Amino acid sequence: MSRLNSVIRRLQAQRDCLNAAAEMIKDHDGIVLEIGLGNGRTFDHLREIMPDREIFVFDRQIAAHPKCIPDDDHLFLGDIFETLPMAVERFAGKVALVHSDVGTGDEALNAKIASFIGKTLPPSLIKGAIVASDQKIDVPGTIAEPLPEGVPQDRYFFRRYQ
Ligand code: SAM
Repeated sequence: MSRLNSVIRRLQAQRDCLNAAAEMIKDHDGIVLEIGLGNGRTFDHLREIMPDREIFVFDRQIAAHPKCIPDDDHLFLGDIFETLPMAVERFAGKVALVHSDVGTGDEALNAKIASFIGKTLPPSLIKGAIVASDQKIDVPGTIAEPLPEGVPQDRYFFRRYQ
């Protein structure tokens, strides 16, 4: 497969997963955490498909398209090893959806971040909350949920908090 087709498939799968995750929480009140602003693509999509949800975004730096930067009140700027615990304390029992897209080319670092996110998140989650992620994250108290049709296994990961 050409690299162009590969990128297109990856982004289509990501979009399908975000759409599915939004559908999965449609009957649950709660806020959204977007971990990994990057250039703002997925943040922009989440706010488009969930215009009535409050979305809080995490990144260590701002490198997003100017139109895809959240206001200061919805931005946790800094290393998630510091900012995520603060957010979890602030939003205890209020989070309906977490989208984590912080994968790097460093597998060891990815594993460390995934482990940290997994063990940090639970107090923030409502019953039925979805954690959608580009890396496998073991979140205590959650079970795996199937991906949307056509999305290859291990491309994305869904967990639902019980
Ligand atoms: N979801 C984004 C989008 O669609 O444009 C792409 C996110 S990009 C793949 C990953 C982002 O995670 C980068 O912007 C990087 O700065 C951020 N990141 C990685 N490790 C981090 C950490 N420990 N703390 C805060 N941000 C981190």
